[in-house]
Amino acid sequence: MKITIFGSGYVGLVTGACFAEVGNEVLCVDIDQNKINRLKEGDIPIYEPGLEDIVVENSREGRLRFTSDIEEGVQFGLYQFIAVGTPPDEDGSADLRHVLAVAESIGEHMQEYRIVINKSTVPVGTADLVRDKISSVLCARAAAIDFDVVSNPEFLKEGDAVDDFMKPERIVVGVDNPRTKELLRFLYSPFNRSHERFLAMDIRSAELTKYAANSMLATKISFMNEIANISERVGADVEAVRRGIGSDSRIGFSFIYPGVGYGGSCFPKDVQALERTARKYGYDARILQAVEAVNHDQKNSIVAKISDHFGGSLKGRTFAIWGLAFKPNTDDMREAPSRVVIEALWKAGASVRVYDPVAMEEAERIYGKREDLYYAANPEDAVMGSDALVVLTEWMVFRSPDFEMVKRDLKSPVIFDGRNIYSPEFMEQSGFTYYSIGRLPRG
Ligand code: NAD
Repeated sequence: MKITIFGSGYVGLVTGACFAEVGNEVLCVDIDQNKINRLKEGDIPIYEPGLEDIVVENSREGRLRFTSDIEEGVQFGLYQFIAVGTPPDEDGSADLRHVLAVAESIGEHMQEYRIVINKSTVPVGTADLVRDKISSVLCARAAAIDFDVVSNPEFLKEGDAVDDFMKPERIVVGVDNPRTKELLRFLYSPFNRSHERFLAMDIRSAELTKYAANSMLATKISFMNEIANISERVGADVEAVRRGIGSDSRIGFSFIYPGVGYGGSCFPKDVQALERTARKYGYDARILQAVEAVNHDQKNSIVAKISDHFGGSLKGRTFAIWGLAFKPNTDDMREAPSRVVIEALWKAGASVRVYDPVAMEEAERIYGKREDLYYAANPEDAVMGSDALVVLTEWMVFRSPDFEMVKRDLKSPVIFDGRNIYSPEFMEQSGFTYYSIGRLPRG
């Protein structure tokens, strides 16, 4: 089948590569010429495990191609996926500018029936806007060409994106036309073999499902961070509480890890956007507001601990930062807690020595060169001469470091662990002053 994907970011590129991997002909279109040039050279602009291999292989086989020619994209595929960004507007609502620009291009260039599939995360009602946009452009062209609009939100996780796409837990498709539903079922059949994962529903429910899923996960995180904050105040150990509640099968262990807050390109913007949608429809979404507020404070809470430890003044101090990406296995630093912490430390007059296994290039792109920022070559280099170590992403490589080295190379043996990856007892025995989340300081 011929498939066009607009947007070659995390979602579009993975979608395109995975559809090509199962034998389809895929054309990826992006307005970022530099990105397209790199992709044509087999240079993958993002870090995503397993992605490079399938992009290179399918490009070599001629099943996966890249272009910035929008018209060529519209002519190419029966299936026209929209996988462009939907960043927050000034008021937190989803900015649909890019989605509607693609819809307009499809209307301008389509010559025959097309299925327009919205994979971007978009508020309820966006399929109607896409349909209206295409219809009005066709009307201006005096062209009577049939098309369908489908909602097909994406649930892949950065860091596991290829696996998630190839073995999805569910394929949500919002569709109002039985024939198009069957075409979508057929398109996804290679990923739907072991058991039925294809969930067809009405379009508005599909659009809301994506926001509900991300908001539920963000709620679990903020809830657990709230329990961590209570634990610290009452002298309880949140890790014991986590095990105590997670073993209840109705609760489960996933997404109840306390930490320095959630980040990334999805949870923060999607919680906000759903809250704004609710407000637009006259509903005050209090849980979502609280989820957002707790997360905002959580990102700053570790800075308060650092400041308290150093007597309220951080001027002239240097901190080793382990972890910049918003979570392990990605180079994505969008809304990452590391950014809030680093910027707060700078504001307080401190310097940082940062290290991340894959996000160094991204950090340099964001922050460039500054006197108060040193890009370390490895974890040990970051620690060298720092006043304390701050752990912000739970990369495997940080889990069992050479603590003797850390103690030797820090000016004072102090660790602020924003992900609770170390044992407080072990830290104390090893001679560290150890701060974590939801557990009393030790040492
Ligand atoms: P991204 O920023 O990585 O990529 C978006 C791409 O779209 C960019 O390369 C941009 O140049 C391109 N683009 C913008 N306008 C265009 C146009 N008119 N024509 C062609 N290309 C255009 O974004 P992403 O992380 O891939 O997210 C895309 C959508 O998927 C968002 O709505 C996001 O919320 C959703 N989503 C993201 C994830 C994730 O983990 N990143 C997961 C599920 C859903």
